[in-house]
Amino acid sequence: MILVLLTNHVLSGALIGALTRRPLPAFAAGVASHFVLDAVPHWGEWGSTRRFLQAAVPDGLVSLAVMGALAAVSPADRRPAVVAGMSGAVLPDLDKPAKLWFGGSPFPGAVDRFHSRIQREAAGRAHLELLAAGGLACAALAAIRAGRPRPR
Ligand SMILES: [Zn+2]
Repeated sequence: MILVLLTNHVLSGALIGALTRRPLPAFAAGVASHFVLDAVPHWGEWGSTRRFLQAAVPDGLVSLAVMGALAAVSPADRRPAVVAGMSGAVLPDLDKPAKLWFGGSPFPGAVDRFHSRIQREAAGRAHLELLAAGGLACAALAAIRAGRPRPR
C-alpha cells in the first residue's frame, strides 16, 4: 500500500498549472510530477488496508476540497491550466479507488508495475507530508495569484 498524500499531488499540480498557464503542457507535466513525487521518500507501509483507508479516505476528501478551492481562487485566465495540472497530477492514483471498488486498475500492467516499483515509503512520515503540503500550498497560491493587481 502506497501513498504520497493525494493532497500533495493536487497542490503540486496546481503549482505547475499556475506556472505553465497552458492546459495541455500543464496536464502532461502534472502526470510527470506524480511519478517524481512518488519516487521521493514518503509516507507509507500501512500494514493493512484498513489503516491505509483511515489515511486515504480523509486525504481524498481534502484533495477534492482543495481542487475546488484552488480552481475557485484562480483568475479566469489561469483556471484551465490550474485545473489541468491538478487533474494530471492525480490521474495516476485513480488505480487505487478503481482497485477498491472495481477490483482492477484502469492502466496497462506496465504502468502499474512502474508506479509501484518507484515508491520509496516508510511508516512515520506523516509530518513530512504535512510539511510538504504547507510549502506546496504557499507556493501554489503565490503562483496562482502572481502578477495580479492587488485588491485595495
Ligand atoms: Zn502514485
